[in-house]
Amino acid sequence: MITINEHYLKLQASYLFSDIAKRVAAFQESNPSKEIIKLGIGDVTKGLTPASIKAFHSAIDEMADDATFRGYGPEQGYEFLRQTIAGNDFQSRGADISADEIFVSDGAKCDTGNFQELFTQTTIIGLPDPVYPVYLDTNVMAGRSESFVDGRYQGIVYLEATKENGFVPSLPQEKVDLIYLCFPNNPTGSTISKSELKTWVDYAREHKALILFDAAYEAFITDDSLPKSIYEVEGAKEVAIEFRSFSKSAGFTGTRCAYTVVPKECTAYDSHGNKQLLHGLWNRRQSTKFNGVSYPVQRAAEAVYSQAGKVQCKELIDSYMNNARVICQTMDNLGYKYVGGKNSPYIWIDGRMDSWQFFDVLLKETGVVCTPGAGFGKCGNGYIRLSAFNSLENVTEAMTRLTGKLSPS
Ligand code: PLP
Repeated sequence: MITINEHYLKLQASYLFSDIAKRVAAFQESNPSKEIIKLGIGDVTKGLTPASIKAFHSAIDEMADDATFRGYGPEQGYEFLRQTIAGNDFQSRGADISADEIFVSDGAKCDTGNFQELFTQTTIIGLPDPVYPVYLDTNVMAGRSESFVDGRYQGIVYLEATKENGFVPSLPQEKVDLIYLCFPNNPTGSTISKSELKTWVDYAREHKALILFDAAYEAFITDDSLPKSIYEVEGAKEVAIEFRSFSKSAGFTGTRCAYTVVPKECTAYDSHGNKQLLHGLWNRRQSTKFNGVSYPVQRAAEAVYSQAGKVQCKELIDSYMNNARVICQTMDNLGYKYVGGKNSPYIWIDGRMDSWQFFDVLLKETGVVCTPGAGFGKCGNGYIRLSAFNSLENVTEAMTRLTGKLSPS
């Protein structure tokens, strides 16, 4: 008899985006002439840069010619991209990461979801609330949680990010083995200082834990004092894995390219308490289950680091961050408290009421769609997330509507 992995049955259906879609559809039906502006989605809206497109086209031409055609590539990524990443994203900032510690992939979603496979089922998971849901659901699927009670899975240690701690979780009181951190954060847009990040690295070293550090939004950091990589913190290479993505920094959400850094000295323990290197395990996992990112996509990603690519990506990011400034300015004028928007494309706003209630107010009064914070965890209730991924025209129009309808306090 074929039996299922019953841990899948514990998963809570995510109604967040379907609920949003239903409410928006109902509103549109009763207000057919009202133009809806979506500031809820975490997807980019601007096209790829000319530098990436040029590289894409010429790589496709290479693929069309027998003399330059490439079949299966290295599962870990082509050397040209791994070298470029190591030099530009790490060595240039004093982080000693080499090309063979970079594993190119088709997304930070897959990598953050898959990495937990390397660890035993009894691993105790510590993850933020609110959270990017992939970290949680993949551990539930793997059987590392018990049942879902009162909005939370038992057996998971939730690291609360609240206004009291500036949306940067404090160290856990109980022991955790695998810690997920994401900065700049989705959904709150909060950032972490180097000294705060060091407390996590020190915790991991002391407790033989491992940090999975999701830096998918590092390109949005404008404050130079903030760490872009966890490897800027001394001692992190032994206890941290880092995830990066070209999705938001270079418009690759539909193109798919990301990478994971597994330093050669990073370790976990076997059942005898002996240290085991994670680099070899991840390499084995990827070469068994993954066949690499396509050659044209890797050339397009390499072009992100060319002189023209850097300028063009900065323009992309600056345009989204300008939208974020417009949103923050409006919230300041209206007297709403928020975090994010300064080093992140997300603005996490205290709605002063239940997050779905605030969602409905915004939709009905202004035709603006946000994401209710409750969809990201218990601590998200009372908040909404606005995203800067849209045109300046739409963001400006949305903020004008909000200004006309929400009363300042
Ligand atoms: N990590 C975080 C925190 C995200 O918000 C997202 C996408 O929204 C991802 C990872 C996924 O990145 P990718 O498009 O590379 O799979």
